[in-house]
Amino acid sequence: MFNDTIAAISTPLAAGAVSIIRLSGDEAISIANKIFSRDLQKQTSHTIAHGFIQEDGTPIDEVLVSVFKAPKSYTCEDVVEINAHGGPFITRKILELTLKAGARLAKPGEFTQRAFLNGRIDLSQAEAVEQMVEASNTAQAKSAITQIRGSVSRILEPMIERLLNIIASIEVNIDYPEYDDVEVMTHENLLPEAKVLLNEVNQLLALSKRSQQLNQGIETVIVGKPNVGKSSLLNSLLDEEKAIVTDIPGTTRDIVEGQIQVGSVVLRLSDTAGIRESEDLVEQIGIRKSQSLLERAQLVLLVLDGSRPLEAEDRELLDATQNSNRIILVNKQDLKTEIEFDETLEYIPVSAANHDLSKLIDELERRFEIMDTPYEQSLGSERQIGLLENARNDIMRAIEAMEAEIEPDLIEIDLKEGHRHLKEILGEVHQDDLLEALFSNFCLGK
Ligand code: GDP
Ligand code: ZN
Repeated sequence: MFNDTIAAISTPLAAGAVSIIRLSGDEAISIANKIFSRDLQKQTSHTIAHGFIQEDGTPIDEVLVSVFKAPKSYTCEDVVEINAHGGPFITRKILELTLKAGARLAKPGEFTQRAFLNGRIDLSQAEAVEQMVEASNTAQAKSAITQIRGSVSRILEPMIERLLNIIASIEVNIDYPEYDDVEVMTHENLLPEAKVLLNEVNQLLALSKRSQQLNQGIETVIVGKPNVGKSSLLNSLLDEEKAIVTDIPGTTRDIVEGQIQVGSVVLRLSDTAGIRESEDLVEQIGIRKSQSLLERAQLVLLVLDGSRPLEAEDRELLDATQNSNRIILVNKQDLKTEIEFDETLEYIPVSAANHDLSKLIDELERRFEIMDTPYEQSLGSERQIGLLENARNDIMRAIEAMEAEIEPDLIEIDLKEGHRHLKEILGEVHQDDLLEALFSNFCLGK
């Protein structure tokens, strides 16, 4: 498909590390051969040769060279990977030698692009390769690796098939209305099928959005009146001095943020100034900000001071967060307990200043454990979710049209659009599939 051979350094350029120079294309082996001390043409696929990279006959680095012959390689082309030891300077030198020997410098992502265009991976897998590289937490990495393994096409294939069958039924009726052995398309027949499909798509959407959420992290706010230990809690959780801890009530006006990973879940934490009446304008802004944060929050950590009796402000916050997904923390466990609950509230004792948060961590792990692995059953990018939403809307429109007993050709337009959107997720849009499904599922030729 491509007639040039590309080369690039596939590892970060850092001193001391092993680095890999990768080549892909028809000439990959012959180019590498020109600069290697041994004959790579004789090398069996998927084996490693030990030798030297040479410049004008002079060895410049001792290397291991892996050969992957087409089509069983990352790109479906001949691929050569040179494992070099010589540090950034030598690595660049080797790349230069491959370019001199006839390779072209690869553009970013070009190896993966070739893998996609040569049909080895679909678009969702190509996307996942990038996400894998950019992953900054295990949730993201997990989601990427399941996608790379082809989970998205496995999820979508049955839905696409179901949709094609509905389209095929409609088409048969439009094209061959006189055939009496063709199952007569009625709204009663197709409507249930379409509803099953809609249901599947909706479930997939819900799961995908949830795993996206896990991927991006759970928006978590820490609230509590001044001086209960919010900043200390955040600090202790983040284990760094990002929030300023002070003894003067109401001094944390700015929302301070950070991320922590609990199990496979990332919490995006924000500390807020206390939510309370205030004369101070600056403080008011902080308070308004925290109120809107509270509304957006997916998890609220409400901090109470265990060394002092419950106050009106605490009660207000208990009320305000009643319907939130919240965890009540009673802080300063190291001090004498003065707090008393008039209600039977479930709470978790902690001591932020002493980094004693194990009960909180346990609770977080328990809460998010069940949310752990929807990745295998979900899509993994905004692009994919957006297209799935489009497909869902197409199917919904088709269902409405069926219910209104509108002309089949008009219903078909929406369904075909839905089909196109589903296929686009995988990066392929083929009208041929429609024909294939039509003829494999219906015996018209008898
Ligand atoms: P915030 O206003 O809610 O952010 O509270 P801070 O984190 O600034 O803490 C207020 C005061 O309480 C500081 O003097 C902290 O050192 C103290 N403090 C916080 N957590 C604890 C704790 O677990 N035990 C004790 N004894 N003091 C704490
Ligand atoms: Zn604070």
